[in-house]
Amino acid sequence: MEATENSTTAVMRLLVLDDDINVNTTICAIAGRAGFETRSTTQSEEFFRLVTDWQPSHLIVDLVMPDVDGVETLHRLALSGHQGIVIVTSGLGGRVLEAASRAAEENGLRVSGVLPKPFTPAKLRSLLHQEPADQKRAFAGVGHMAPVSADMLATALTMKQLCVHFQPKIACGTEKAVGFESLVRWQHPERGMIFPDQFIALAEQHGHIAELTRQVFDLSLAWFADNFLNSDLMLSINMSAIVLADAQFPAWIQQACARYGVAPAQVTLEITETSSMENPVAALEYLTQFRIKGFHLSIDDFGVGYSSLVQLARLPFSEMKIDKMFVMSASTSIEAQKIAAAVISLAKALDLNVTAEGVEDAWSLQFLRDLGCTHAQGFFIGRPMSPEAALQWLRDRDSGWGN
Ligand code: C2E
Ligand code: MG
Ligand code: MG
Repeated sequence: MEATENSTTAVMRLLVLDDDINVNTTICAIAGRAGFETRSTTQSEEFFRLVTDWQPSHLIVDLVMPDVDGVETLHRLALSGHQGIVIVTSGLGGRVLEAASRAAEENGLRVSGVLPKPFTPAKLRSLLHQEPADQKRAFAGVGHMAPVSADMLATALTMKQLCVHFQPKIACGTEKAVGFESLVRWQHPERGMIFPDQFIALAEQHGHIAELTRQVFDLSLAWFADNFLNSDLMLSINMSAIVLADAQFPAWIQQACARYGVAPAQVTLEITETSSMENPVAALEYLTQFRIKGFHLSIDDFGVGYSSLVQLARLPFSEMKIDKMFVMSASTSIEAQKIAAAVISLAKALDLNVTAEGVEDAWSLQFLRDLGCTHAQGFFIGRPMSPEAALQWLRDRDSGWGN
């Protein structure tokens, strides 16, 4: 297991603000047994005094109190720049709790989740030990850096600075590896690794996406051909919808596969829709051409952005990928659970394979399996890895717990 940034021996101090003394006592007893020093109060002013003087590492804030507005408390806490981990609790419905916790997160607080009342000791303990979302993002490598320019990207393409990492995908039922998704990275000589969220849109806007896609295909197919020819593993490659408008692409991709000896039936093209799919007839033609050539087609990030029910129904996709936004929050959000369930049942009704991305814990994998989700990807299973590390992951898994 990789160490988390939080795995230090620092004292864990929990401060609780709730108007119900019994709730305070119960929370403190459970947290005390989980290794926390605890304090609680029913008064907002005392809460803020303790925040300053006692420096808690964790805070539980009740949303509904007679003389205090919980949203206001969270707002004030955020303004103070407090970096403790926050749990929002109340007897109100989940939607209100989740809205309040989202607002707190947007304001910069490190919220690890919501605790609807009544709660179980297990639920409280799991929240106390959960990483807040911002840490997960930091861990995913999505850091803050100055934006890159189109000229820098043009140089990167000429100098061949792009590389690909591979993230494993498993069958939910057997937990066996079924393939890898290739994800582009830019190995910049001074800035280090730059992630695709920083340059794909730029490549699309400045006419570099076709060349970028060609380089990604070459790198991905070369690695796949070296290791998995004649296996039953699959390779998924992301393709910008803009590339679809280039009439030469279906033939180019087919030739690239032939060059490396990879059967199109081993390749899934993952398409993230953008407004560029506004020419529906052309998209229908190109996607149908790919299917006729034997490629699989996946609608990526389903449920956000431009992916729509209309596109899903009329375009010849063979797989749907549920956006990680719903999967990552399924363990803490009833709404996300309901959306994931609805999307999976829609995919089943349309006879599509359905991959959940963003699976970050065992609970989520089991939840998805119970819903009939066919495939899963996520940090819990394997992070995107260098080509060598991906091969090692597969070797370890073949001899390890996945079989
Ligand atoms: P995507 O295709 O939906 O890929 C999944 C993204 O989620 C990846 O981010 C991956 O690192 C991240 N991810 C996977 N599992 C987890 C998890 O459990 N938790 C969290 N928090 N994140 C997880 P990445 O590599 O930064 O890629 C972002 C997007 O960039 C991709 O989203 C894809 O749309 C695009 N992209 C990547 N490579 C290419 C490419 O070669 N061509 C094109 N056109 N787009 C690409
Ligand atoms: Mg993808
Ligand atoms: Mg996605």
